[in-house]
Amino acid sequence: LLDDAGRMAPTIFAEMSALAQRTGSINLGQGFPDEDGPAEVLDAAVAAIRAGVNQYPPGRGMATLLEAVARHQKRFYGVELDPETEVLVTAGATEAIAATLLALVDAGDEVVTLEPFYDSYGAIIGLARGRHVTVPLRGPDFRVDHDELRAAVSDRTRVILINDPHNPTGAVLDDATKRLIVELAAKHDAIIVSDEVYEHLVFDGLEHSPISTLPGARERSVTISSGGKTFSTTGWKVGWLSAPATLVSQILAVKQFLTYVNAAPFQPAIAAGLDLPDSYFQGAAATLQAKRDQLSEGLRAAGFTVSHPSGSYFVVADAAPLGYDDAVDLCRRLPSLAGVVGVPISAFCHPALAAEYSSLVRFAFCKKADVLARASEQLAALS
Ligand code: PMP
Ligand code: GLN
Repeated sequence: LLDDAGRMAPTIFAEMSALAQRTGSINLGQGFPDEDGPAEVLDAAVAAIRAGVNQYPPGRGMATLLEAVARHQKRFYGVELDPETEVLVTAGATEAIAATLLALVDAGDEVVTLEPFYDSYGAIIGLARGRHVTVPLRGPDFRVDHDELRAAVSDRTRVILINDPHNPTGAVLDDATKRLIVELAAKHDAIIVSDEVYEHLVFDGLEHSPISTLPGARERSVTISSGGKTFSTTGWKVGWLSAPATLVSQILAVKQFLTYVNAAPFQPAIAAGLDLPDSYFQGAAATLQAKRDQLSEGLRAAGFTVSHPSGSYFVVADAAPLGYDDAVDLCRRLPSLAGVVGVPISAFCHPALAAEYSSLVRFAFCKKADVLARASEQLAALS
């Protein structure tokens, strides 16, 4: 994370998006959709601005959004939340993760995450002066080895931070693994922080189920999500978390000094999104599943070995069959070789696993069908 001068280096996403822009390449690096989300959501933001919803909203978030989050959790997962005390609006999931870890983790506390891990996890654990302990996701389907999970969690563990569905692998945690996480968290008195930003982007008929719904989990869980992925509004940075009231208060105490409050007019707009009928959510997942299949087919035809992601925006492609063992080097050259940008999986890993996963590249498929078709054609030049 640190450059040679000990400063925080630019994130891999900033670097790869800049590379795509500089070279005019197709950006399958940073995960953001290239089409707008539902008109109801966009129109609600415009209407809110025009209606004068433009000053500081309450620190916990606007009641319209807090209540919509509670309704959404009830509708999809049967979870009853008190919107006044058990929900907190944040500047994207990114701030939810940061405020939660900074509130809960003291210097020297251990935080257990899966590995590969989303880049902000490592950065914030570092800012909190915590110790980052990881559990590798093992290929080809990126599963958690239960013995490795048991070995990682101890009385030193303050937080078990999971991401389900998982970026960058697209894996969805199975029930037995989630049950073991709850059991270990209870045994060692740890808090479970669950980043579920891809909760609605799951495929093949699977249904997402928050870990907080398992017996014994609710009282020790912080569940994080975001409107960015579900409504194709990543630039709005509206996220939220739900947790027991005492935890929400602790996290709010930090959040108030990170961003104080969040952008007002986008809050009723995301609330309108959360209240959309089930058909919207099913349609979004089905559309994305078709994109997954399209890009996976293109990558396979180009000679990569391709993972089968059950959720998220991302597919993992192994470049080893094409003769490329170093995905970092390949990703730097991919713009000139094929006019495409991807992200090496090693950017989400500590050095040991980075070496093991050195030939893997993450490609985002949340792009228009014609863009994916062009990318596939261009990648065929690699073989
Ligand atoms: N967690 C994961 C796993 C993500 O993939 C992302 C965004 N790509 C975030 C958190 C950040 O979400 P937001 O943009 O809402 O801050
Ligand atoms: N979450 C997106 C990704 O994984 C982008 C996030 C970012 O740019 N920080 O690509």
